[in-house]
Amino acid sequence: MRAVRDRAGALAYCEALGIAPGEVLARVGLAGGFSVLNVRVSDDGERISILTGSIPALGFPSGKAILDQFVRDHPWVGDRIFGGAGAIPLRRPYDRLSGDGVALIGDAGCQVFPAHGSGIGAGILAAKLLADTLAAGGALRDYEVAWHRRWGGLFAAYDAVRRWNSELDDETLGAIMELGLIDGDIARAGLDQVLPPFTLASLPPKARALRHAPQLLPGLAKVAARIGAAQLMSALYPRNVRALGAWSRGMARLLGDRI
Ligand SMILES: Cc1cc2nc3c(=O)[nH]c(=O)nc-3n(C[C@H](O)[C@H](O)[C@H](O)COP(=O)(O)OP(=O)(O)OC[C@H]3O[C@@H](n4cnc5c(N)ncnc54)[C@H](O)[C@@H]3O)c2cc1C
Repeated sequence: MRAVRDRAGALAYCEALGIAPGEVLARVGLAGGFSVLNVRVSDDGERISILTGSIPALGFPSGKAILDQFVRDHPWVGDRIFGGAGAIPLRRPYDRLSGDGVALIGDAGCQVFPAHGSGIGAGILAAKLLADTLAAGGALRDYEVAWHRRWGGLFAAYDAVRRWNSELDDETLGAIMELGLIDGDIARAGLDQVLPPFTLASLPPKARALRHAPQLLPGLAKVAARIGAAQLMSALYPRNVRALGAWSRGMARLLGDRI
């Protein structure tokens, strides 16, 4: 959030865009996929909130660069009141989510859906799980164990997907979509942050499609195996802290962490 240096300038900006103070102006796709610039001048015209983000690759600017540019372009925007910049923690949640009197929830625990960086739902789930665990007389460690056994598999599975698809080139990704290997149901499941509903009926068309692109089979088989194993390992997250080291090394090896 920033102060407004020149209230008349801020109000003129809102008027020119047809938005009232207090309303959010949201621009998406201004610097590549997933990029956003949201601006809101407060009701009294004294402050401005600016939210930006992007995938800073392929020559696109970072969220911070978009924000800095917006501030440079609008001299009526004043000094920063609070806020900062950083990368969304795109990985599976940390193996340890509790310590001596401390529990991690939300971005602090990397509880962010790895496929697209949404963290609000995961943070709410974690906060509820933590509150329910403590209210039932459990310890912080019980929250950590419950998280991994209940949700860890889903997040680790999508981390495997993220690692796989972020290494695909445009052509391969296009072929996968065109052949229907990633179809509407799978894309929907990703948006809903659940595992895709694979049924027996959905598999034969995909097997037939793969006959047209057999080169995709090893990569797909590898990620499918990782998804299954990550879910199994998460369900087996150890209650005994002494077994955690081996579990963490196993999960890291499975997902290909650079350790
Ligand atoms: C551009 C952008 C778009 C996004 N879009 C979506 C979306 O559409 N859907 C979705 O689910 N997620 C989205 N996310 C991710 C989501 O915003 C985060 O995952 C979520 O806000 C994390 O919540 P949190 O409470 O863990 O952390 P935060 O929301 O970052 O909250 C942490 C708070 O702690 C404060 N703080 C930090 N240090 C200190 C300190 N030392 N003392 C006191 N306070 C401190 C910070 O000021 C902040 O208010 C988006 C993120 C970005 C950057």
